[in-house]
Amino acid sequence: MATLSLNLTHDAQARSWLASANGSDFPIQNLPYGRFRRTNSQEAWRCGVAIGDQVLDLAHLATQTSWLGAPGVNTALAKPAAQAASRDLRELMRMGTDAWHALRVAMFLALREDASPAVQQVVQSALIPQASADMTTPVQVGEYTDFYTSLHHARNVGLAIGNGGLVTPNFFWMPIAYHGRASSLGVNQRLHRPLGQAMAPGQDRPIYGPSQRLDYELEMAIYVGQDNDWGRPVSMEHAESHIFGMGLLNDWSARDIQFWEMSPLGPFQGKNFATSLSPWVVTMEALAPFRLPFTRADEHPQPLAYLDGQALRAHGGLDIHLSVSLQTAKMREHASPAQEISKTNFKHQHWCVSQMLVQHTAGGCNLHAGDVLGTGTVSGPTAQEAGAIIELAKAGREPITLANGEQRSFLLDGDAIVLRGACERAGFVRIGFGACCGEVLPAMPH
Ligand code: MN
Repeated sequence: MATLSLNLTHDAQARSWLASANGSDFPIQNLPYGRFRRTNSQEAWRCGVAIGDQVLDLAHLATQTSWLGAPGVNTALAKPAAQAASRDLRELMRMGTDAWHALRVAMFLALREDASPAVQQVVQSALIPQASADMTTPVQVGEYTDFYTSLHHARNVGLAIGNGGLVTPNFFWMPIAYHGRASSLGVNQRLHRPLGQAMAPGQDRPIYGPSQRLDYELEMAIYVGQDNDWGRPVSMEHAESHIFGMGLLNDWSARDIQFWEMSPLGPFQGKNFATSLSPWVVTMEALAPFRLPFTRADEHPQPLAYLDGQALRAHGGLDIHLSVSLQTAKMREHASPAQEISKTNFKHQHWCVSQMLVQHTAGGCNLHAGDVLGTGTVSGPTAQEAGAIIELAKAGREPITLANGEQRSFLLDGDAIVLRGACERAGFVRIGFGACCGEVLPAMPH
């Protein structure tokens, strides 16, 4: 399968004639997709590919054919793939893994340093500096579901809120989730602190007002790449071919609102006010060198057969380094950069991306290309690897102290959160996810 096997596009020796690509988050081995338009323009959002500090304008490139001529390019597939992407990334998604691969090879060869001067000239004319582009979500997201797949996060939050770190039995048998809202997904969000109800400890009457316990959640976004028919579950054997790629996701969470509202039902207003995505979706094919075997420690039950398989055991996991940085309003006033407050790795998740997709469809639920599945907060085994501030600051009992002396139990107005991700492995070129940014504004009154 193209999304799992290594090929010429993973060649560590390959460099681009575009100098800014080499050594950046976006070398030719990455080629993530996004939607952009020129800054301050009213242009329609259109599909582009990040390369170095530039955006490759696929709409412009798809009108040309001369860049598709290199030996090794499957022109018959790469050309319609580029045209589909230039109309809507979901059209490329629905073409399937062979088309994804054909377009990737074509772009890789056109950007590689041995591309002919004529090809370089055509591609150069389709480049726009990222600094001159505004970004939106990589696709028009149809639906959004958020999973809960980190055992460390589940335990840490349980300990922080005083339940002793108890994890419900279902966690160990299936990836569990709630259905979220696609309408409040965005990139570079400047979100207002949400209003809502909260019940303070020991009280018998809730208060209504701005959340006092605003948090972030370090997550990854899985971009569904295929439609599955209503009533027809996807098997583990086919799950990877239904996943187009991944990005970063910040599931902003109002803990006081969330914990009052969510028993016995799932999260609602504690989560639905904003969810931030990174602008670029890194394809599963780009991630192929960074796969890991799936293992399950003896202390936990092995997955049921429908959530297990050979491909999962061989390379179901993903080695992705992740970090959270915080920039307070005070830091911004002093032109200080965001300070890293935690880092972890996606490999610590209890459930893999293929298992999440299979579980979602197991009862017959139909997913669509362009749907987003959040992976749930990514927390690692040590306290410093926590993916939310409720874990780092022990639900407010142990505030974190920043380098400039400021302290945080939860987020304050003016705080900006930056998520980053990257894959590194000896013998391969490092690829990055870019940044997922968001900033908290004061509450908006009725
Ligand atoms: Mn979440």
